[in-house]
Amino acid sequence: MAALSGLRLVALKCEKCGSLLDADQHDVVYYCNNCDTGYELINEKDELVPVDVEFALPENTRDAEIIYYPFWVFDTDIEISSREASGTIGSFGKFIKKKVGAEGDVKPVEKFYVPAFDTSMENIKKLGLEFTRNQPDYDTIKKDKIRGCIYSREDAAKIADFIFLSLEAEKADMLKHISYSLGLSSPKIVGIPFYRIGESGLVDGILGLELR
Ligand SMILES: [Zn+2]
Repeated sequence: MAALSGLRLVALKCEKCGSLLDADQHDVVYYCNNCDTGYELINEKDELVPVDVEFALPENTRDAEIIYYPFWVFDTDIEISSREASGTIGSFGKFIKKKVGAEGDVKPVEKFYVPAFDTSMENIKKLGLEFTRNQPDYDTIKKDKIRGCIYSREDAAKIADFIFLSLEAEKADMLKHISYSLGLSSPKIVGIPFYRIGESGLVDGILGLELR
């Protein structure tokens, strides 16, 4: 055991049914395939905290194997107290106060999506932005297989902040300053279906976004 000093090996069991929980080395979310209970491993406390896990049914079906990749999905309440942007000369320095998505045909952001699996920051930003912007509708099922969730809900909240600022910054005006609160609550894991295409490509079954 001396060689393993500093490393604790804990056999993780489902607290509900006692089955061994299957996960990869860096996983922070465990899903019991026996009784469909999800857990987040809170590392500082070595504690398993229950988390809802559901699986989205693909909107577009393809003749390919489905792999579910985990996303953190939060209920979202965004309040912007001030936003300063320079667009045209006329609106220079003008403060506007509004809720995100209140204008035009943009859907209000009710759910925030943060990819939680091991992929490039570029992919995380792209998927997070597009899912959050599109607010997709899909049916869900309770039972399937999921692994590879490497970001905790705390990590996900930080990434959500970064995605939110990217959403604001890409609006047509030039964002100079923003004060906001990004309320994120009721975190759950949603397995988003992906199809494997070609050698290394993946395309999601909800929005049809391609990953490289
Ligand atoms: Zn179980």
